[in-house]
Amino acid sequence: MIDINQLIAGFRRFRQAHFAEHDTLYQQLVEQGQTPQVLVVACCDSRVDPALVFNCHPGDLFVIRNVANLVPPREGHSGHHGTTAAIEYGVKKLGVKHIIVLGHAHCGGISALVNTNGVSTPDSYMDDWMSLAESARKEVEVTFSQATPDVKYRECEMRAILVSLENLKTFPWISERVENGSLILHGWYFDIGHGELLRYEESTRAFQAA
Ligand SMILES: [Zn+2]
Repeated sequence: MIDINQLIAGFRRFRQAHFAEHDTLYQQLVEQGQTPQVLVVACCDSRVDPALVFNCHPGDLFVIRNVANLVPPREGHSGHHGTTAAIEYGVKKLGVKHIIVLGHAHCGGISALVNTNGVSTPDSYMDDWMSLAESARKEVEVTFSQATPDVKYRECEMRAILVSLENLKTFPWISERVENGSLILHGWYFDIGHGELLRYEESTRAFQAA
């Protein structure tokens, strides 16, 4: 458990070590602005920090984090579409070349979805949000009806990534770029327990070790 004062102490260490070591990089990023090539949609989960997992520097990744790393489909303009707005900024303004939907093992959002059995709690923002992956849950329930909860969670975590990849293509400014080759979509899965990265391969329709 981290004490809140440790964050201040941590920042001081960061400033003395990391910031001092990369001062030229930070100066460049301030003067020239950020030009990340990769946008990552990751989970809020405290164990899945994309910059840490991919060993990246400041300026490398444009990261969006939400519960269960979900991407909503194209919808009307009413409402506050935080994830969609950030994706729009990354694609249109920053011109990222890749979007990675980064799922992970032991996802609390996905296990909550699987455990609802399709019945949402009224007034739950979380249930409403997780209903984005309802098609993945249904598929798993049908295909793995006799499986253990752990198998269902893992299957649903992976299938939810594919739902998000499909949802990304519902935005014309994404599908156009994918079609002309200027944007590539990726579905990746970080297995926390084993420290492994799996990547979805379109040709085999399966997640394979990176
Ligand atoms: Zn998660």
